Amino acid sequence: MIQNRISPEQVRQIRECLRNRQAEIETFVQRLVEAESPSGDEQGSRDVVDLLTSAASELSCVSSLERIDVPQFGQHLVIKSFQSKERTNQILIVGHTDTVHARGSIMERPFRREHTRLYGPGIFDMKANCVLIIETLRALEQLNLAPPHAVVIALTCDEEVGSVSGWPLLEQTARAQATRCAFVLEPPAPGGRVKTGRKGTGMFTIKVQGVAAHAGLDPDKGASAILELARQTERLYALNRSGSGITLNVGVIQGGTRSNVVAAHAEGEIDVRFSTEAESHELEKFLGSLEPIDDRTKVFVSGGINRPPLERTNAVLELFETARSVAAAFDFELGEAQVGGASDGNFLAAMGIPVLDGMGIQGDGAHASHEHIETDDISRRGALIGGLMLSV
Ligand SMILES: [Zn+2]
Repeated sequence: MIQNRISPEQVRQIRECLRNRQAEIETFVQRLVEAESPSGDEQGSRDVVDLLTSAASELSCVSSLERIDVPQFGQHLVIKSFQSKERTNQILIVGHTDTVHARGSIMERPFRREHTRLYGPGIFDMKANCVLIIETLRALEQLNLAPPHAVVIALTCDEEVGSVSGWPLLEQTARAQATRCAFVLEPPAPGGRVKTGRKGTGMFTIKVQGVAAHAGLDPDKGASAILELARQTERLYALNRSGSGITLNVGVIQGGTRSNVVAAHAEGEIDVRFSTEAESHELEKFLGSLEPIDDRTKVFVSGGINRPPLERTNAVLELFETARSVAAAFDFELGEAQVGGASDGNFLAAMGIPVLDGMGIQGDGAHASHEHIETDDISRRGALIGGLMLSV
């Protein structure tokens, strides 16, 4: 596929172009990291969007910059580029400008360089990737390389807290024009592997009603909700051994009142993950039909699926193969990974859009204090994304 649209030489030129701007890119990353933007910090969000729009407005391939106000969060940013009458399809690129790091984190852990690494709160997930996508457009523009489709970049401001307003915007943006494929700028898996599958997620609660009794005088009159919950928990965990893509965790339990009372109440919170739509139905059916083991107790399950899976479909694989051939141009063997965590890519995949996730710069420590990126990977990742825009 790559041979028709872009040559390995052109991919290398994109990389070279980005390398020539390495110092400017790193300075831009620093400014973005130092503009702290934890989810829900309106001013921080606007400051970051200011910096990004001012950089994007320098590019002639950018035809529109839309800032969407989100009360109590700040602003989403939609950047439209390479638009023309002939380009009826779009490539959608998705990222976020919010971080999990509270304001003030930058004082405790200032932006710093150690050898080939840049450290800073939110740098890996994903401030550096917000810079990267604009710099990739700049490189294409400088090289006079125009993708065959429009490129639309949507950077949301509430991803780290569930994309409540970000998701409707992404859906609307994806529907505004035929979306050929989507790239998600989330951090890659170790080794720079892109994510070709993400599990779907769900949250359930299991409540058990038992019969209270004096643990010393009348133990036989009681039916322990705690014992029943423990048995049900074992039954639930059997799903983890089923050989499917299902994983289930009872992460919180509570119940009972005193040690000398047979517990009349117990409940557990359940996190479920699954690889396919079929497994999600299987899970719902299983959880919806749990029967008590001790029939003097009652078992109630509530909750549901909240994110569909990003399935490794043929279309996703084809996209991955294209990405591999682009990466081969600079001698990088691009790998893939299927992961348990969900992202906005899950929703896009459920719309039938081929999604390649984990397109961000290599590094480590997402959400942690040692969060960093590898500077050598900036130009490589930019060349990969730019090469893909020209190849799909
Ligand atoms: Zn993220």
